[in-house]
Amino acid sequence: MSHDTNTLTRKAYAKINLGLDVVRRLENGYHEVRMIMQTVGIYDVLTFRAAASGIHITADNGELPLGEDNLIHKAARLLKEEYNVREGVEIRLEKHIPIAAGMAGGSSDAAATLLGLNDLFSLGLPKERLRELGVRIGADVPYCILGGTALAEGIGERLTPLPPAPPCVLLIAKPDIQVSTRYVYEHLDTAGVWRHPDIDGMRLAIENGDLSGVTARLGNVLETVTACRYPVIGRIREEMLACGALGSLMSGSGPTVFGIYSGEEQAWQALERLKGQGLAKELFVTKMGV
Ligand code: ATP
Repeated sequence: MSHDTNTLTRKAYAKINLGLDVVRRLENGYHEVRMIMQTVGIYDVLTFRAAASGIHITADNGELPLGEDNLIHKAARLLKEEYNVREGVEIRLEKHIPIAAGMAGGSSDAAATLLGLNDLFSLGLPKERLRELGVRIGADVPYCILGGTALAEGIGERLTPLPPAPPCVLLIAKPDIQVSTRYVYEHLDTAGVWRHPDIDGMRLAIENGDLSGVTARLGNVLETVTACRYPVIGRIREEMLACGALGSLMSGSGPTVFGIYSGEEQAWQALERLKGQGLAKELFVTKMGV
């Protein structure tokens, strides 16, 4: 096989939120958050190939916009403009992360694009600089550049790396509904939230490698909005727990729900139950980390 130095491939990993708290609404419309972010083993694959000029995106998924609205395009353009890169690029996206799911699929593709093009164009930028550029594309992009387990504060760009979460098996279920992140944040009554997740306790549990401490503190304030509107979210959670999950929660603004299991067998049984009941179409048994 010939080795093509003008082509490189990068994986873009999905995330879940083990904890998501909204502290307050900011005047610019963003929200100040405190989130425990966790990379999971579901990823898109991006292939970058140097071209004479322009940014050309192709994908194996017909649902996505491939022009200037694609976050991959935004990331490539930002880097090219910021560093006066004349060369162009062809980018091929192989999509596996559920779309508009609360798993940061688009943000992770943007992060992989910044990382990949930094190498393809030999820019030699440090990750901190890529994170600064990333937040201009989306609040979750800096985290996606960092990856792993982390506390995210500010609008999500202030990151504190944490040790890897304790080993466990994850079942991930995306019901067949579309949820817009903007809708969920706009309908969150920040002043009316009376139960905030214990983000500091979650951080300590992770630092202590205490899985039951983690599962006891799963919490997401956005669940109040999304699960009220879409009862299927509550049904998936109940079904996961009935099948032996140690804990279950909606990720991000939803509608993806994850369940934490101590063993694979129960997770697969739960997957079959959810599939049989038609509660979710996109289902994965995976783990935390890469
Ligand atoms: P988050 O967890 O950050 O809220 P999400 O998982 O809810 O993200 P995404 O899958 O990132 O949502 O996509 C949200 C919207 O962004 C989609 O409706 C899609 O049209 C658009 N989008 C633009 N570029 C991409 C991309 N590369 N991958 C996925 N969606 C993209």
